[in-house]
Amino acid sequence: MRGKRQDFRCSFCGRDKSDALVLVAGLDAHICEVCVEQAQEIVAEELYGGVNPEAPESQPQVKAPKFEFKLPKNIIPSQIKEHLDKYVIGQEEAKKILSVAVYNHYKRLSHPATTDDEVQIEKSNILLVGRTGTGKTLLAKTIAKLLQVPFAIVDATVFTEAGYVGEDVESILSRLLQVCDYNVAAAEHGIVYIDEMDKVARKSDNPSITRDVSGEGVQQAMLKMLEGTDVNVPPQGGRKHPEQKLVKVNTQNILFICGGAFDGIEKIIARRTNTKVIGYGNANKRQIKEEDMLQYITHRDVKRYGMIPELIGRLPIISFLRPLDLDAMKRILVEPRNSLLRQYQHLFRLEGINLTFTDDVIAYIAETALEYELGARGLRSICEAIMTDAMFDLPGRKDVKHYTIDTVYAKSKLEGGMLEVLRAAA
Ligand code: ADP
Repeated sequence: MRGKRQDFRCSFCGRDKSDALVLVAGLDAHICEVCVEQAQEIVAEELYGGVNPEAPESQPQVKAPKFEFKLPKNIIPSQIKEHLDKYVIGQEEAKKILSVAVYNHYKRLSHPATTDDEVQIEKSNILLVGRTGTGKTLLAKTIAKLLQVPFAIVDATVFTEAGYVGEDVESILSRLLQVCDYNVAAAEHGIVYIDEMDKVARKSDNPSITRDVSGEGVQQAMLKMLEGTDVNVPPQGGRKHPEQKLVKVNTQNILFICGGAFDGIEKIIARRTNTKVIGYGNANKRQIKEEDMLQYITHRDVKRYGMIPELIGRLPIISFLRPLDLDAMKRILVEPRNSLLRQYQHLFRLEGINLTFTDDVIAYIAETALEYELGARGLRSICEAIMTDAMFDLPGRKDVKHYTIDTVYAKSKLEGGMLEVLRAAA
């Protein structure tokens, strides 16, 4: 008897048939209209972050006004590099190569070939190889700012080929649309920085990479987009959904800059050049320090690492970033236009306080970041730890007009395992 009664109840909430407006029957279960609605909300939450793609108001307003792209007046590659010099320390080779590539890319946009006979300048996407925190993203971001084009940063590891859990590769362009408020024409002239490109390398060519479920699939999926084609983009990102209105974006004029650490590629370069990374292998070979090896990188090494040749072909420009040494770290603290220390000084100036850092403390902060392997990103966390008390105590103190941060003060703020905490968080 009991089993029979249960047949006419919602199998999710237990509501009796007589209490439900609709009770839909499945193979072995029933569901009422209230649970259907709830289930729909859960699905929308999981797939689209709570936005119901069917609701008309959830579709962003897609605009297609004209976007007039102009290279800043008469700018030449050396001026692009000069601009980069103001924000990015060192990395001379990458800055030079990037300046030329970006200049040519946007020259090509300003002078499109109008007849078949004219020389077509091919698109030159860029691959930047270098350890994390050496300035790859900063370079791409700084260029986009100079040119005043939309700029988006995406992480290659969140994408998967169709059929796997993760975001569709097309949602790379969703970010770009979002930053320019869905102005398609502007997005079509933008720059996309794809980070962690090395993480979608094929595992078979690189035993140090653990993730390969769909690495090659992601590379395949990116091919057409990087080359230049019409892509149907889900405006809110995530997975494409049959009900979601897609936005067509042409990627012909979008510049893709890909970056990655490519851990261990130095050994591949060494093998090809018949040299030896200091500390490893055959003592008879020419010795080159690990950090100097990257300057010899070629597309062949990247292929060996596990990038598919078709994708490498769509990233014709390759450059490298050097690991940051003590001198670079010190310069990063003080030289860039909006360097960390300048920012603190500005904050204090607004309080009427003249803040100074001794040369010793600058060296100490840089050395500490290197010693604890915190990289350039770690400079900020170290400085925050040093400066928090001063920023808490000094505002409103009319009697303080000058304040100096020296090594004794800095060390006192980093006592008690603070650096270990920072290292664990890095
Ligand atoms: P990644 O190479 O991992 O993309 P980022 O460009 O994101 O590294 O660098 C992280 C942060 O470290 C930057 O926001 C910047 O503050 C600092 N930084 C790293 N490299 C440099 C550099 N060469 N010059 C100036 N600042 C740098």
